[in-house]
Amino acid sequence: MSTAPATPVAAKPSSVEVIKEASMIKQKDMIAGNYERLANARSLGLKVASTFVPGNLNELLMCFDLVNNLPEINAIQNGMRKKSGQLIVEAEKHGHSEDVCTYVKADLGMAMKGNIGPDGRPVPDPDILLLSYTGCFTFMKWFELLRERYKCETVMLHVPYEGEGRATANMRDYIVSQLKNEVIPALERVSGVKFDIDRLRQYLKESAKAEEDLVWVLESAKNRPSPIDAYFGGVYYIGPIFTAFRGTPEATEYYRLLRGEIVERIALRQGPTTPEGDMKSERYRLVVEGPPNWTSFRDFWKMFYDEGAVVVSSTYTKVGGVYDLGFRHDPDHPLESLADYCLGCYTNRNLPGRIDMIEKYINDYQADGLLINSIKSCNSFSAGQLLVLREVERRTGKPAAFIESDLVDPRYFSAANIKNRLESYFQMIEQKRGGRSAAAH
Ligand code: SF4
Repeated sequence: MSTAPATPVAAKPSSVEVIKEASMIKQKDMIAGNYERLANARSLGLKVASTFVPGNLNELLMCFDLVNNLPEINAIQNGMRKKSGQLIVEAEKHGHSEDVCTYVKADLGMAMKGNIGPDGRPVPDPDILLLSYTGCFTFMKWFELLRERYKCETVMLHVPYEGEGRATANMRDYIVSQLKNEVIPALERVSGVKFDIDRLRQYLKESAKAEEDLVWVLESAKNRPSPIDAYFGGVYYIGPIFTAFRGTPEATEYYRLLRGEIVERIALRQGPTTPEGDMKSERYRLVVEGPPNWTSFRDFWKMFYDEGAVVVSSTYTKVGGVYDLGFRHDPDHPLESLADYCLGCYTNRNLPGRIDMIEKYINDYQADGLLINSIKSCNSFSAGQLLVLREVERRTGKPAAFIESDLVDPRYFSAANIKNRLESYFQMIEQKRGGRSAAAH
């Protein structure tokens, strides 16, 4: 689960060219740069670690000069480039069931077809698989398959699930002890680099700066009109911090730039940037739960901005770290802070905790309602979503709606169905407003 697409605003099919903001160009370069590092890892003598987005220990990996390869990101990038369908079919041909998470199948399919990355260049086999286990059982099964394939060192950080809705000191100690006794020794062994805690502190200092600006950006959606779309635009904003860049000065700079641009948008009372320019009128403010569809990402987004619907908050932009509830990486408590980060990931939170978050978002962001995009192949998000929907409706009195699609399997995106449902939902919001005109709202 999670994200790092390249910048959303590209040349449109028409002759109108949208101007790219500086942060968009920087984000795109950063993501491309990591693929470049991966492609050149062997010739540069660098070792490669594969790891997942939720609970990722990027700062720790950097302490060992490891290049970070994120299989989910490869699946997303392949999905956006319309390459994931054939990779999924390849994995299914080898016996992987239709019900399996399509990130897994896209990743396995890519490996089966020679591990050519989304940018057309080879992705090297990993030297180590680092699994931070944060709530989704699929992560474990996925890495078991990769371990069988690559026969490389595998290390698992077991993060206890927040079943009671909170983290305890015991949980934190348990994670810290695994970091000290298993994870760090394994990373030292594979990389040949000795662990230096001061290096980790330095990276965590950078992380905290970037996190501060990211939260500011996400919370800017409390303005009317919202200067950002916190789902479709949000997935670009979280790209660097959820992937190979958290802890780097580059990421700090990216979020500083982004924040500056949003400050300007607020001053000019501009709506979010979309692939077709600025959104003109904000008619509906939504909170969205669940990951987006990647294979028809632009078409999906268009269904919202064409109707003046802006997403003011989303849970998906919290999968790689929940920062808006106050957590920051802490250089004074480096390993403890890595433990707290993993414990608090969205995928590691129980259902009541997720409902509380969504209720808070609806109230804090003055949203018109909740939309759930239920992902066919993601059990971790989809289980319990109907319960979430009813409970949020009951608590907030705001209408909620349910649409269904998939992550990177193009066979499960039905544009007509989704459009119909969205139109009915927008009508429902209008009715709930008691017939007042949307523009006057
Ligand atoms: S099932 Fe969902 S949370 Fe788990 S790996 Fe797949 S997309 Fe991510």
